[in-house]
Amino acid sequence: MKIYYDGDANIEIIQGLNVTIVGYGSQGHAHANNLKDSGVNVTVALREDSLSWDKAKEAGLKVSNVSDSVQDADLVMILAPDEFQKGVFEKHIQPNLKDDAILAFAHGFNIHFQKIIPGDGHSVIMIAPKGPGHTVRSTYIKGGGVPSLIAIYNDNIENNEYTAKDVALSYAKANGGTRAGVLETTFKEETETDLFGEQAVLCGGVTALIKAGYETLVEAGYSPEMAYFECLHETKLITDLIQEGGIANMHYSISNTAEYGDYKSGPKIITEDTKSAMKEILSDIQSGKFADDFLDDCRQSNDGSGGPVMKSNRKMTENHPIEKVGKELRSKMKFLNSEKLVDKQKN
Ligand code: NAD
Ligand code: MG
Ligand code: MG
Repeated sequence: MKIYYDGDANIEIIQGLNVTIVGYGSQGHAHANNLKDSGVNVTVALREDSLSWDKAKEAGLKVSNVSDSVQDADLVMILAPDEFQKGVFEKHIQPNLKDDAILAFAHGFNIHFQKIIPGDGHSVIMIAPKGPGHTVRSTYIKGGGVPSLIAIYNDNIENNEYTAKDVALSYAKANGGTRAGVLETTFKEETETDLFGEQAVLCGGVTALIKAGYETLVEAGYSPEMAYFECLHETKLITDLIQEGGIANMHYSISNTAEYGDYKSGPKIITEDTKSAMKEILSDIQSGKFADDFLDDCRQSNDGSGGPVMKSNRKMTENHPIEKVGKELRSKMKFLNSEKLVDKQKN
């Protein structure tokens, strides 16, 4: 698979376009500031009552409402939450968009599941950093970047100077992505693998594993503090080793006792049944069922703060004993959270 680096991308393409970035949250603040620092003409598009308005202004960015700011845009990067993108697109973006404006996304959700249907004439591309927004910004400032994906849904660029893929690579370069490596994928592959990864492994899988392990120890009479450190705190230490050098590298670092226990017990935890469950999760993603369930839940909220399923699960998580003991223990570890979720500027 070809990986694209700085030398494969021409930053002048994106420097020659008017770029509007819709949203100034996790990804939005990072893209907007990185592109500005890379010499790109950026406007941040926000609702008039957005709390992020002043933050973007203070960062020295041009800020405007969505309808106005897309009118002169050659490229519109949509970084509002996935569940609001369709509404913002239909109400404020589409009616004001130049006929040949390029639409860009950092996740394929709305295009792949056909929630947003762009008019003919628009090119549709993706530049998706594989990391949270605060890392996209902090690595850029240090001269690095976050590995990123690009994808081209369609290329309707009429000039002979560059293609939609050249634009995506140019954007990725301005955002720091080509410093780390850029891979080309499709909207379908990015969307389905991203959703699967976060549900089965990274978020859903990991938190279910942590909670089940914690409950097992505490129910057997061990102290909540011990269970917290064993089942939650240490996950990062272990996954760091895996990320740095693979699974065998982690096995090399841990004790032989731990390694032997890994081989004996891992397969008892993740069984053929677990894999069947994973296949079911994947097929609900592929069929669009998951996307529709999620959007249905969101629709039942008047203020955009999450539907009944989201809210009741948030409450349950908040009330889980591991969160209570964790809060107490983390308050003593001041060195944690050095890069707190400063970018999560929900409003
Ligand atoms: P976020 O919730 O952090 O921020 C969204 C921003 O959109 C907020 O600043 C808000 O001001 C703005 N917004 C909300 N409603 C709006 C409206 N009606 N009009 C205009 N602006 C509005 O979102 P995020 O996590 O940065 O996600 C943005 C996109 O990036 C999504 O497509 C997501 O899948 C993708 N993505 C996110 C991450 C991540 O780490 N958070 C990683 C890769 C891709
Ligand atoms: Mg995701
Ligand atoms: Mg141990």
